[in-house]
This record gives sequence, structure tokens and C-alpha cells, in this order.
Amino acid sequence: MTIMKNDNYKIKKKSLIIFAISLFLIIISILYSLNIVTNNENKITENKIFNKLDYYIKKNDLRYTQYKKNNPKLTIEQIVTHVNIGLDNDYYTNTRHTKNLNTQYILVNKYNFLTEKYIPKNLEKINSQYSLGNMYLVDYAKEAFEKMAQQAKKENLSIIAMSTYRSYKYQVNLYNTYAKKDGKEIADTYSARPGFSEHQTGLAVDIYNGKEPYTNFEVTEEFKWMEKNAYKYGYILRFPKNKTKETGYNYESWHYRYVGEEIAKYIYDKKISYEEYYAQNLEKKD
Ligand SMILES: [Zn+2]
Repeated sequence: MTIMKNDNYKIKKKSLIIFAISLFLIIISILYSLNIVTNNENKITENKIFNKLDYYIKKNDLRYTQYKKNNPKLTIEQIVTHVNIGLDNDYYTNTRHTKNLNTQYILVNKYNFLTEKYIPKNLEKINSQYSLGNMYLVDYAKEAFEKMAQQAKKENLSIIAMSTYRSYKYQVNLYNTYAKKDGKEIADTYSARPGFSEHQTGLAVDIYNGKEPYTNFEVTEEFKWMEKNAYKYGYILRFPKNKTKETGYNYESWHYRYVGEEIAKYIYDKKISYEEYYAQNLEKKD
């Protein structure tokens, strides 16, 4: 009897241990699989969120996820827009040849550059009453500029182009002069490296009123007029105050860019930068 009792006890102990081990394994495997499921679900939901936007680009998916991790406070719209712009990389890194050459859609900034050889087609000289010396813009931008300056003149304001098309070579000298004076890091905040200047497109114009230095343009009546009217002629303020991150440049009250009336109005209404417009409307087509 005692022997049997002892055996029984051993068997019970053995099965209890087996039961405990199996239970432990089952719990571990449930936790493990749950974790995988949760991870997958997170991934799927996240993709679905980005997906909802019609400017979502599939090949940027990992970059959206990574950018969201680094910038948890941004909205989904901001994340997709910023990554489409290229802001998840430092300025002047991950750069590419810009597309839409010789069109009003061309985007030139710290991620998109023009080659040394690019000279826009159909450059035309601006009427000398609206410019300082020999200033050239692409024909349709030039016409729009003259119309705008003419209208301002009727209202006793003077809008004068002081820097328009600039060749690659010109920009080499300009940038080097600034870099020598202030150092590369500071020069980069206000001057473009050669190939990265919008002035090489023949669609950008720096203006002043003929009296105040251009850096004071913001305090002039002409600036107020431009704020209200530039978009009607297809021009936008290219480097707004609250968009320095998106554009990569300090605020410039004097630098305007021709994008056409339709896009200019859209940008004016939505108070966005051209980078954001491009990221949400044109990037996907590139
Ligand atoms: Zn400029």
C-alpha cells in the first residue's frame, strides 16, 4: 500500500510539472503571436492612414513611418507632405535632377537642381521702365511681370526688377562671394549653391521700389500691393515667413516666382509654400 501511494504521488507530481511547463509554453506562444498580430495591425493601420491621402507615394512608405516616429506631433498630412518634399533628409542631401524643365511647374530648391548647362528657352528682356538694366525672364513670366508692374504704376507704385535670370556661372561667383564673407553655413541660409538657385529657371524675380534697399521691401507700400495682387498675375511670394523649413530659406519679402495664375491663386488661398503645393499635387506625377 505505501509503495502504491508513493508511486501515485510521483505520477501526480510529474503531471503537475508537465502541466505547468505546457501552460507556460502556451502562455508564451499566445503572447508572442498576439504581439506579432498587434505589430502587423499597427503597420496595416498606419499604411492605411497614409494611403488615404491622394498624394501618398508608395515608394516613400518606410520613410513616412520613420518620419512619423521622429516627429510624433505632426499630422498625417504634414508627414506625407514633408517626406514628399524631402525634409526627412538634410538640405543638399538626397538631391536629384529637377523635372518639368522649361515649364512653369519647375521646382528648384535644396533637393532639386539644374545642371550647369541649363539655360531656359525664350528668355526675354524686361521693359527698362520696370527693371534695373538688362534683366531677362522667360517670355510668359516677363509678360506677366510687365502687366503687374504696369498696373502698380497706374496706382502710383513702382515695382522694379533688380535680379531675374541668373546663369549657373553667375551663381558660382555669387555663392562663393557670400561663403567667403559669412562662411558656408550662414551663406546657405540666404544664398543658393550653384544649380540650386531658382533664378536659373528664368521664372524668379527680386524686386524693389526704386528707393528703399530691397532688403527693406517688406515695409513699403509696394510690398502691401504685391501681397494683395501678385497672385492675379501668376506670381507668388516664394519664401514666406512661416515656411522657412519647407522652402529651406529665410524669409525674403522681395523674391517672387511665376507659377501661373491658377497655381498662384491656389497657393494664395491656402497660404502654403510652392514646396507643399508640389508635394501634394505634382510630386506623384514625377
Ligand atoms: Zn531672389
